[in-house]
Amino acid sequence: MAKAMARTALRDRAAVKAMKPKGVKTKAARGAARRGGSRHVYFFGNGKADGDRTMKDTLGGKGSGLAEMTNAGLPVPPGFTISTDVCTIYYQEKAKIPAAIEAEMQENLRKLEKAAGATLGSDENPLLVSVRSGAKFSMPGMMDTILNLGLNDTAVEGLKTRTSNGRFAFDSYRRFIQMFGSVVLEIPKDAFEHEFEAVKRERGAKLDTDLDEAALREVVDRYKKVVRDKSGKAFPQDPHEQLKMARNAVFRSWMNPRAQEYRRIYDIPDHIGTAVNVQMMVFGNTGERSATGVGFTRNPATGAKEFYGEFLVNAQGEDVVAGIRTPQPITELEKVLPKAYKELRTITSRLEKHYRDVQDFEFTIQDERLFMLQTRNGKRTGYAAVVIATDLVEEKLITPKDAILQIDPEALSQLLAPGFDQKEWAALPVATKGLPASPGAASGHAVFSADEAVKWADRGKPVVLVRRETVPDDIHGMFVSQGILTATGGMTSHAAVVGRQMGKPSIVGAGELQINEAQKQFSVGGKTVKEGDFVSFDGLTGEVKLAKVASKPSEILQVLNRQMKEKDSDIFRRFNLILTWSDKFRRMGIRANADQPDQAELAYAFGARGIGLCRTEHMFFGEGRIPVVQQMILATTEKDRRAALDKLLPLQRGDFYGVFKAMHGEPVTIRTIDPPLHEFLPKREELMVEIATLEAKGKSGKELEEKRTLLHRVEQLHEFNPMLGHRGVRLGITYPEITEMQTRAIMEAACQLVKEGIKVTPEIMIPLVGHVKELRDQKVVVDRVAEAVIKETGVKVKYLVGTMIEVPRGAMTADQIADAAQFFSFGTNDLTQLTFGFSRDDVGKFLRVYTDKKILDKDPFATFDVDGVGPVVKTAVELGRRTRPDIKLGVCGEHGGDPASIHFFEKVGLDYVSCSPYRVPVARLAAAQAALSVRVGD
Ligand code: PEP
Ligand code: MG
Repeated sequence: MAKAMARTALRDRAAVKAMKPKGVKTKAARGAARRGGSRHVYFFGNGKADGDRTMKDTLGGKGSGLAEMTNAGLPVPPGFTISTDVCTIYYQEKAKIPAAIEAEMQENLRKLEKAAGATLGSDENPLLVSVRSGAKFSMPGMMDTILNLGLNDTAVEGLKTRTSNGRFAFDSYRRFIQMFGSVVLEIPKDAFEHEFEAVKRERGAKLDTDLDEAALREVVDRYKKVVRDKSGKAFPQDPHEQLKMARNAVFRSWMNPRAQEYRRIYDIPDHIGTAVNVQMMVFGNTGERSATGVGFTRNPATGAKEFYGEFLVNAQGEDVVAGIRTPQPITELEKVLPKAYKELRTITSRLEKHYRDVQDFEFTIQDERLFMLQTRNGKRTGYAAVVIATDLVEEKLITPKDAILQIDPEALSQLLAPGFDQKEWAALPVATKGLPASPGAASGHAVFSADEAVKWADRGKPVVLVRRETVPDDIHGMFVSQGILTATGGMTSHAAVVGRQMGKPSIVGAGELQINEAQKQFSVGGKTVKEGDFVSFDGLTGEVKLAKVASKPSEILQVLNRQMKEKDSDIFRRFNLILTWSDKFRRMGIRANADQPDQAELAYAFGARGIGLCRTEHMFFGEGRIPVVQQMILATTEKDRRAALDKLLPLQRGDFYGVFKAMHGEPVTIRTIDPPLHEFLPKREELMVEIATLEAKGKSGKELEEKRTLLHRVEQLHEFNPMLGHRGVRLGITYPEITEMQTRAIMEAACQLVKEGIKVTPEIMIPLVGHVKELRDQKVVVDRVAEAVIKETGVKVKYLVGTMIEVPRGAMTADQIADAAQFFSFGTNDLTQLTFGFSRDDVGKFLRVYTDKKILDKDPFATFDVDGVGPVVKTAVELGRRTRPDIKLGVCGEHGGDPASIHFFEKVGLDYVSCSPYRVPVARLAAAQAALSVRVGD
């Protein structure tokens, strides 16, 4: 715990620091701000706004949406947006806002008072405002919000007079003190809850709504005392002071740990900051003719074209999102408030057409009058993303090109996730049903807190996070869970929104679950489930079952494996459409890293057109092969080694035959053996224990002798830095007979296929080359054996010889190397390792500290380091092409399947990326996006 806190504190400091160097505003700009030289506050109201939808960087998502809706003449309460630049300035100026910006805010406040026809703090007609965060990228629930700001001891009386509703006025005031107290003054919420419950108890009230004005006046008095006791100061009565404090608290919340964690998970940079929206309050809680709600123009879980969302009568906005009360489906609004409902439908479909994408909106109805509070492109599951994009194209709202740019490539990998075996699933009784918030099959041990989820997951256990409701602080636990199951909340509650966004199966509002988080258990239908017991659920139907259930391949895979007919799968059709469109726009080729025929077949079915890396050593691990490989390694003479290699030859030839065949004539890059030989032998320590045990038992004879010989060889092969040791081309140079055997196996398989009338394109690749002479040495061997096989078989097969570029020296001398290589494939795993000097096997020990301290933003082994390793690749590309203009260039490190990295590879003009078969769809889409947004060589 202490460690975790220390880490958080560390991260806080580092994050605040990170705001500085990349801050949008420079010293000069800050100077300009003081002099009032540039705009920092943007007004919206009376049908006109200073900003518009193109200004997300400055106004954040919420601010730009409010401006756009205002300009479109929609009913938006007036207000102003304090730009994201001010957040940067706030941190740079050590929590101070320059006077010029304060003045600009005052000016806009006066404009707002005029538009609203009310004055902040007035005891006759007080203006009340909400103060909300809103960054460029939506971060649901991660930052703070304050509602009802502007109330004080006199304004509350003004509100009472204006609304003729004393109960409402004092309920608003107590909500405001509580929110301001916890968010701005950082007083624990419990302190307020405690007093609230006490008043309820003393007055025999069951529900909050049972409290009358007198009771709420007492709550207000008690709350003010809490503030005085806990903060040492009276509750601030000056609304202008309240506003400044609330604004600064929102800026502060940009750096709270959960917001930072969220940005880390979603790769949102720290330096962009949040805007603050100050907007006239409208009230959904003035009575039964008022309501508040949220919704989507289409179903964000399944993509279905249906009006979707929920609302609460007589409530304030936060009540819906917080998941405290389970709201009603939005379609019921038609019965309750038909006029407002009709208007909402008209406005939201207009918004969808305007933005040409699904809208996620927030609204409030005050005394039957509708107000729009937000609109933005809705977050959706991967499944929904594909359905919606293809529907929008069919509806001619967008073009295929728009569709491609609209889908996060990771959405496609969500579609490949497994589901339950329907037979097994159907046989189990349904324990309960909840709202299907995010599709997918989840099965795991029940855990009841985010921290427990992380603990179990760290031990490699699948978990299902079961909560009454999730809160933004649970984000780390949600991230590691197979799925999220909550008892309360609606389809737009926190768990639902975040679950969908993460692509985690989620069920919310499973109201029959009696959850006891303290005792770590829940009961349902007379059964009790304790921590660690298995829970499974289907996020598409909302069904929960109390057992472990095996999953089965996704529909897409079932079609590809011919277990399902293509025409029976609608989602497959759409998935295919997206990929076919992508192929029209991408420039780079997509290959796969595969070393088995079945993997190659799958990759081909996913659309890979070529193998970019066949790791031949993986074939050595095949059934029954290890003893032969060990025999080769243990051989002390070339003759013995050749005898073992002769046994391996037919096995490798068979594999190559299968891989070539699966690729239907597309190029197949086969790499000669790469890892250090000791990887094929038992571990030194294990052997020593086995020998000692045999000796202790008094055993002697063949077994003991063999083990001793093995140990001797293991010790001979032992290296201090095996990754820098006797591996890659160095093995081929010292044992050329291995290269010979592998070349022979490749070429014999190729010639055989050609004889059978099947096209093949072999590319033989030498790994870890740092000096052109290393490559020349091996090329001689490859060419000699290949020509011999061609001669022996009488079949002419064209083959290429190339190398991996994965050693910095190789990259820096790529012009010389290109003289001997017909192609380069960038091994960015090793290239990252050797450029950073980080061992790829040990980096986990310190990487988290590096990212916490913001030394590195991301794991460079997952996302290519454009700044440091990038120039190494770029240099090699330029040097290689200088010598051999038509040299074929690709990448086969893990980065080949990472969308952000793919952008870089597009930029430097590689010919193809190669990635694992399952990443092929992601890479196809990402490569199209990269081609559409990048000009090669930029
Ligand atoms: C690489 O280094 O990027 C690579 C693809 O080779 P391996 O991961 O097998 O070392
Ligand atoms: Mg490598």
